[in-house]
Amino acid sequence: MINVKRLSDEFFRLASISSPSFHEGEIADYLTQRFRELGGDVEMDDAASAIGGEAGNLIIRFAGQHSTAAPVLLSSHMDTVSPAEGVQPVLENGVFRSAGETILGADDKSGIAEIIEAICVLKEQDLPHPPLEVVITVCEEVGLLGAKHLDVSKLMARHGLVLDTSGVGSVAHMAPCANKLRFLIEGVESHAGLDPEHGISAIQVAAKAISIMKLGRIDEQTTANIGIIQGGQATNIVPRHVQLLGEARSFDEQALQRQTEHMIDCLKQAADASVVEIHGEPTQAQLTTEIMADYPLMDVPVDAPVLQRLCAAAERLKRPLTVGRSGGGSDANLFNQYGIQTVNLASGMQKVHSVNEFVLVDDLEQVARLVVTFIQDMAEA
Ligand SMILES: [Zn+2]
Repeated sequence: MINVKRLSDEFFRLASISSPSFHEGEIADYLTQRFRELGGDVEMDDAASAIGGEAGNLIIRFAGQHSTAAPVLLSSHMDTVSPAEGVQPVLENGVFRSAGETILGADDKSGIAEIIEAICVLKEQDLPHPPLEVVITVCEEVGLLGAKHLDVSKLMARHGLVLDTSGVGSVAHMAPCANKLRFLIEGVESHAGLDPEHGISAIQVAAKAISIMKLGRIDEQTTANIGIIQGGQATNIVPRHVQLLGEARSFDEQALQRQTEHMIDCLKQAADASVVEIHGEPTQAQLTTEIMADYPLMDVPVDAPVLQRLCAAAERLKRPLTVGRSGGGSDANLFNQYGIQTVNLASGMQKVHSVNEFVLVDDLEQVARLVVTFIQDMAEA
């Protein structure tokens, strides 16, 4: 059913177009033209101006065929991580890799190629399918920015698939919610040798706070990390500024809240303990905390029709899927928040976000086949 040569050529073309986040202009042009060739009604939303990138999200509609079923969403992202300048995909023994010191971009061009091939097959075999809404987002890799600024009023679908997990033979129905955290500690600067009594070391406050902070894997649901620490000016100055950047994520919204508060609390304790008398005034380190919701929880019930149908389709192809949790957020988190029940299917990409990234043509084929079968099943209202 799948035209492997066509699928492989499509992936090669997509991978050859460099498209790091914010620089999706060229690939968006290519995709616009490609989806139009396939008979899609292609539209770009206004996300580009909001996020300062070259292109917005592409929303492509295909009318249903021989079906009165509700529309289905299919989605991947067109941006990649870096290094992505001059990607040269190489196909050897059925495996795509990058030729040089760049990523391959199978994350997430594998997903796009599979969606395109699935649509080609549906068209050429005149298979029944519901209306399809294909959303190819921008700037996924830099905080799901495209999906965050997606004009969802343009979408009718209430369920669908995102193809954006690595590996093959699995689908994620849960993914954590996450907060990004930024903490600024402001101490008091003084000469480290001549006048340390009149200083408050922001570095020491940070160290005390972190030493009492629960970090790493908190429990089965929750993780937390301080990933960046910056501060200090010179070895002979008691440091005034420290910035801590971190995150917390959890499969439980309340646990995320608790962990976030715990981290702030540790900083407050350390700041409160930093009091010294300066010019007769008790003085302590000051704290600024910024909590930014990174992405919302994704929690699709295992009996959701979209997941049941996908698993049944995989079953029929004798390639059963493992249903599990993903450790990180994807566009699927946001689609679910928008009321579009969406699971995240593995697209076959491997070792993503590294120059060793690769994808097997066999896996591209297998996933495209599953997508075709799933869409046909969804045609039955
Ligand atoms: Zn991705």
